[in-house]
Amino acid sequence: MLTIALSKGRILDDTLPLFERFGVFPMENPSKSRRLIIESNKPDIRFLIIRASDVATYVQFGAADAGVVGKDLLLEHGGDGMYETLDLNIARCRMVVAEPETASATSQAASVARLRIATKYPNITQKHFAAKGIQTEIIKLYGSMELAPLVGLADSIVDLVDTGNTMSANGLKEVETIADISSRFVVNRASMKLKRQALSIVIDRMRESLKGSEH
Ligand code: AMP
Repeated sequence: MLTIALSKGRILDDTLPLFERFGVFPMENPSKSRRLIIESNKPDIRFLIIRASDVATYVQFGAADAGVVGKDLLLEHGGDGMYETLDLNIARCRMVVAEPETASATSQAASVARLRIATKYPNITQKHFAAKGIQTEIIKLYGSMELAPLVGLADSIVDLVDTGNTMSANGLKEVETIADISSRFVVNRASMKLKRQALSIVIDRMRESLKGSEH
């Protein structure tokens, strides 16, 4: 039995068609069902429907053999105990540092004792600025990071950007890109050994599905 962790929202909407292309689909609509474990039409594959930020943890500890997780959450988690096997090229966006259009907080960092940065990604943010020798005070938020600099909670933010509309609607400008983000298919290290054959088939078929979805 292969247990594959997925999360609701855009990852689910974009990932299920990849499975469907090689004939695997959930027996219930995961977007509507309240069930957290959903069987597939194949007796040897089932899905876990969990929070996006928990997928890497389930795969790390082998509670799921594999999962689909955003590179942002994978970097934040650290990726211990798993292999990143495929870039699914979905839910693409960028992780950026942004600050108010009227300020230049980041460029003034040298003169600011500690740059205050609001983010959902404290580990990535800490690493990024530490590598540049910039001291930061990180303020962990769970959403709407764009608000923080507008009300004086932070000098700048680290967040995801797709079209850039949310940033500009809130008077923020991008200062730098930290990473290009997309969803990845990750596999638990022990499962890769113990269930190599079954996992290789899924990985190969996913790869084929991806080719089919390229334009
Ligand atoms: P946008 O206005 O198109 O730049 O979208 C920005 C908002 O959508 C921000 O609040 C981001 O956190 C969120 N966002 C954009 N792309 C993604 C993604 N691939 N995964 C998760 N959140 C995203």
